[in-house]
Amino acid sequence: MTTTGNTSTITAPGLTIGGDIVTATDRTEVINPATAQAFMAVPTAGPAELENAAQAANRAARSWRALPLAERQEYLLRLVAATREHLGELALLLTLEQGKPLAKARGEIESGLRYCERYATMELPVEVVRDDDSERIEIRRVPVGIVGAITAWNYPLLLALWKIGPALAAGNAVIVKPSPYTPVATLRLGELAQAVLPPGVLQVVAGGDDLGRAITAHPLINKISFTGSVPTGRAIMASSAPTLKRLTLELGGNDAGIVLDDVDPAAFAEDLYWGGLSNCGQVCAGLKRLYVPEPLAPRLTEALAAVAGTVVVGDGTEEGVDMGPVQNRPQLDRVQSLVADAEQRGAEVYFRGKAPAGPGYFHPVALVRNATDEMGLVAEEQFGPVLPILTYRELDDAVARANASDLALGASVWSTDEDRAVQVADRLEAGTVWVNQHPLLSPDVPFGGLKQSGLGVESSRYGLLAYTDISVLRVKRA
Ligand code: NAD
Repeated sequence: MTTTGNTSTITAPGLTIGGDIVTATDRTEVINPATAQAFMAVPTAGPAELENAAQAANRAARSWRALPLAERQEYLLRLVAATREHLGELALLLTLEQGKPLAKARGEIESGLRYCERYATMELPVEVVRDDDSERIEIRRVPVGIVGAITAWNYPLLLALWKIGPALAAGNAVIVKPSPYTPVATLRLGELAQAVLPPGVLQVVAGGDDLGRAITAHPLINKISFTGSVPTGRAIMASSAPTLKRLTLELGGNDAGIVLDDVDPAAFAEDLYWGGLSNCGQVCAGLKRLYVPEPLAPRLTEALAAVAGTVVVGDGTEEGVDMGPVQNRPQLDRVQSLVADAEQRGAEVYFRGKAPAGPGYFHPVALVRNATDEMGLVAEEQFGPVLPILTYRELDDAVARANASDLALGASVWSTDEDRAVQVADRLEAGTVWVNQHPLLSPDVPFGGLKQSGLGVESSRYGLLAYTDISVLRVKRA
């Protein structure tokens, strides 16, 4: 199928089942959000394809888990190398389906590969708790079996690699289901994996929410690693209960940032801006509500507007574009309606950037003042290129308002005084609290949400252990 715009002919990737690249009669059109046109139709897995994938994973899982950790890690590094060889191709697919600029798409993939490389160095040591005349007791980490990895549309390949890396290293077989909005690059990754991994160890099946539901109910699948919205996380928990699946849930966020009164607006504006509005504001742990001391607000809003004024919005395949479109139509509608509602209730969009008129799903960068915490734009996760700037008089009030959310993924404090900032950070409820940055994630640092933002963590040794169960060996000696 030929892509639209300035791209050449690209073949739609297939599903990967049992080491084969397969097609299906059912196909799903994938829309390029920069043009609002379908640029490809990918095969869609139904119950039969899922069953085949689950059976293939089951056949593969036993010999995969029996390999020494170091050998599995070598395989993982081969997957990293194969992916890197196709970086340009994958980045283009990612830009076409997700909308982000090409350089950011490359950055996303490179970041995901660095996480995999880190998992290729981690140990899973046996812990000896007793070794005396009477008994030897070992705590061993064993793979959970088959992992269903279900991902969202904001960082399709990063999220997939975050799950594939630790799941494979820990000795599991993985079935990945990307979002129906962004299946293409992940399917292609699955194809590349078949050349370097044993059949059935890593499979990618594309499909809609129904396929996700079927994965979470499948009796052969032992764990779900999910990134997506809070309501879907809850549905997955319920649907996983009858088969008692292990769960890692990375859900939504409504991260607050608190600026302290010693901040020089010009010096902090750039980092604050990108803390909130990178990836077109579609970042789970992006800064989504900014609390600023009342006297500082006019100068800070001006400094943020100066940064926002430099941001070029457009088609991510074009040179010089800093921010692409919103990824899909329903999300664009949602962002527009949250802004309209806030305006109607007295908030002011004091900066509205330039954006192409469409038909792509473009939304201008919008900085909003005079919003209140009760407005949907502030109370809910807006997930778009809009930042509400709220004011406070007492720091205690800002802390209370920051914590007054069911979501608690990240939060940040901004100050030139580190000790003071850390004292405030200590009072914020979130899976990660940053000082003078937001959101920075690293392969050796756990990432996860408190409260309704999720269950468990990804990344680091803790993220690796989440793909294992504990099995104890007790040897009687006396
Ligand atoms: P979504 O929950 O609608 O969909 C995510 C995935 O779940 C898709 O693949 C979808 O097909 C599948 N799905 C939908 N219903 C399902 C069900 N009942 N059972 C199983 N699978 C099902 O989320 P989205 O709109 O794609 O993503 C946006 C959300 O993801 C935002 O809330 C964002 O904050 C969150 N997110 C969180 C993180 C994190 O690490 N915490 C990272 C990125 C995105």
